[in-house]
Amino acid sequence: MKPGVRCHFVRDGGCSIYETRPDSPCRQFSCGWVDSDSPFPDSFKPTELGVIIVKTTWRGHAAYRLAYGGRDLTATELEWMMNFSRQTGRPFFYEQAGETLGYGPQAFIEDMQNKILRGIPLFESHAASR
Ligand code: SF4
Repeated sequence: MKPGVRCHFVRDGGCSIYETRPDSPCRQFSCGWVDSDSPFPDSFKPTELGVIIVKTTWRGHAAYRLAYGGRDLTATELEWMMNFSRQTGRPFFYEQAGETLGYGPQAFIEDMQNKILRGIPLFESHAASR
């Protein structure tokens, strides 16, 4: 099991060792789409979207990382996310053609630019880039 590589325990019906799956990353991971207070539409279900919604935080507030899970977001899906971000102030990371990009309030963009300048990782999560 390693980030960016399909887990070898995955079968057609899902996880083949679900009852005994490891604590990290499996039990610790919390999918943003499944959350009881998920703001995301049904069409954003990761198996439909091909993108995994990983919860993270920025300045103590909700933020998301939309991690590659087989494809990039379409223009329509990305527009939905950008509208959502403008309405809620919640920033998000996403991937396009293997590049990680961010979208959110100006202060978020400045924070990320500072992190890049200082060589600090942009986010912490269980799901790694491709
Ligand atoms: S829950 Fe964990 S062990 Fe099971 S398929 Fe997913 S990553 Fe693999």
